[in-house]
Amino acid sequence: MTKEFTRQSGRKPDEIRPISAKVGIIPNADGSAMFQSGKTIAIAAVYGPKEHHPRNQRNPARGTLRCTYNMMSFSVTDRIRPGPNRRSTEISKIIEWALEPIVMLDKYPGLVVDVHIQMTQADAGTRCAGINAAAMALAHAGIPMKDLVSSIAAGKLDKTIVLDLDKYEDSEFEEGEGSTDIPITFTSDGKLTHIQVDGHITTEQLKQAMKMAREASKKIYEVQKQALKDSLGGGK
Ligand code: ADP
Repeated sequence: MTKEFTRQSGRKPDEIRPISAKVGIIPNADGSAMFQSGKTIAIAAVYGPKEHHPRNQRNPARGTLRCTYNMMSFSVTDRIRPGPNRRSTEISKIIEWALEPIVMLDKYPGLVVDVHIQMTQADAGTRCAGINAAAMALAHAGIPMKDLVSSIAAGKLDKTIVLDLDKYEDSEFEEGEGSTDIPITFTSDGKLTHIQVDGHITTEQLKQAMKMAREASKKIYEVQKQALKDSLGGGK
């Protein structure tokens, strides 16, 4: 375990923010879900499988997963200029890569499954919350999947490995040792579908970060699974 370290939020190094999830929040979508982690809120809506336009992007051998990530203008204190930008384009791709290993796209040759991910509030960890919401929305849409995925960021505050940095922590340690951010996505049986390492970290620290994130992903999975059960009216 990591050494004694005080976080501004009072959380322990391996303590994630309070999480909640809800499935079936957008009646017009084929599948939808919300995932909240602290003050970060993601909603995801799935449309499809449907005809793939533009046609020249069709893959005749398998379906295409098309994710679109967006932070709403008032998701942060300073209004964000609406429309896609470099960051949102990159995160959209990353979300696709994190989800593709679990979605059975071979069932839909030539078609597209559209996943729209909107951040209504952004307090760091948005790509992870977006992935968590999108995985639930895909399951809710009835898209065949091998598993769910659960995503969480590890990071380094000064020299301590912690989970789930909020925006305050992210900004406070932006310079120097503390700037490492490691979003990681796991299947329910602990297989990795996505990892990014932004900053410096030793091999040992990375191993520790992955171990902590893998444990936390199990808690996230339970919340996602329960939300899906609740949407079926199944309860516990
Ligand atoms: P993630 O949200 O996945 O952690 P980043 O590290 O890029 O991705 O962003 C961290 C946080 O910084 C976001 O969750 C958000 O709170 C804030 N942020 C990102 N882009 C902007 C922006 N253009 N304006 C204001 N805040 C932003």
